[in-house]
Amino acid sequence: MSGARIIPPGGRIGILGGGQLGRMAALAAGALGYRCHIFTPEPDSPAAQVSAAATVAAYDDADALAAFAASVDVVTFEFENIPYESVALLAARVPVRPGWNALRVSQDRLVEKDFLRGIGVPTADYAGVAGPQELAAALDRLGRPAILKTVRMGYDGKGQVAIDSAMPAAEAWRRMDAERGILEGFVDFACEVSVIVARGIDGAMAAYVPVENRHRLHILDETIAPARLAPQVAAAADAIARRVTAALEIVGLLAVEMFVTRDGRVLVNEIAPRPHNSGHWTMDACITGQFEQFVRAVCGLPLGSPERHSDAVMRNLIGDEVHGWADIVRDPEAKLHLYGKAEARPGRKMGHVNRLRPRSG
Ligand code: AMP
Repeated sequence: MSGARIIPPGGRIGILGGGQLGRMAALAAGALGYRCHIFTPEPDSPAAQVSAAATVAAYDDADALAAFAASVDVVTFEFENIPYESVALLAARVPVRPGWNALRVSQDRLVEKDFLRGIGVPTADYAGVAGPQELAAALDRLGRPAILKTVRMGYDGKGQVAIDSAMPAAEAWRRMDAERGILEGFVDFACEVSVIVARGIDGAMAAYVPVENRHRLHILDETIAPARLAPQVAAAADAIARRVTAALEIVGLLAVEMFVTRDGRVLVNEIAPRPHNSGHWTMDACITGQFEQFVRAVCGLPLGSPERHSDAVMRNLIGDEVHGWADIVRDPEAKLHLYGKAEARPGRKMGHVNRLRPRSG
């Protein structure tokens, strides 16, 4: 069965997407003797800079996709907003890991929440809304404050409107600026955590320890590994992440972002079927970092140990913060990772720095 094929070192991995996740995946693939071919609309992308080959084309360019598929042994992706037709075209020619279902579910916040509820995973209260009247009715039902989000293409807080006690439904709808939305009850969380799970072609799973994520201006600022959680809360987060990974039959990685409420409940906020910013600490603090694990899973190799040898704090370098690189490299304890992006625009992820500490517990 081609779906279970092993791609040995020396093989060619196709990656859809040219950002930093693709770059770090390609570097890890290189360390295991693979070559990567990046497919992205962006010229001189962070991933293409460190890869054997690159195709610069739109994600719906059928000719370019067919040529790409012919040049690689397996296709994966570093972001999930790939059109169905493109995935189908690729999957008819070459294994695509993880498969369409994982992408489909994670592309649309409403499909995602329905799926999670369907497998018994707790989430915030939510309602799909397709206009200001539906939004007003949903606000009556869910109460205020609440958060209105676009169902598609939202990330780093984009397309989100916080609705307080004063904001009229029509105003919130106008600000969201999309045809469909999802209204979520506001979760008064104690902290935000995530768990990254790897799953191999044989169904074996390996999870990293739950970590705590701190955001600034809706963008991940810092990840603290491990999260400071009561053991039973950490165990619940791990169990939920594994349940979602198995249900989606992921071959690759699944990142599961969760809220921990003040009374210790764990609610899933979002999932992403790929490496994740909150897993960057694993590159320096674990036996097998998330990018190597991703390559292993996608190529059908056995998973490596996700065990951490150190605790870690990961800080993102956003926009101008990257200009502090000279001070960071002067610090012998700091592990600096830069993404090769020429322009430090506000809000743009330019790099990150990991700092390790002796492992606790
Ligand atoms: P998201 O794009 O869904 O990851 O949301 C970005 C950030 O907004 C999250 O990391 C939270 O800090 C916050 N947020 C999202 N949804 C909710 C919610 N239902 N209740 C409270 N805060 C939220």
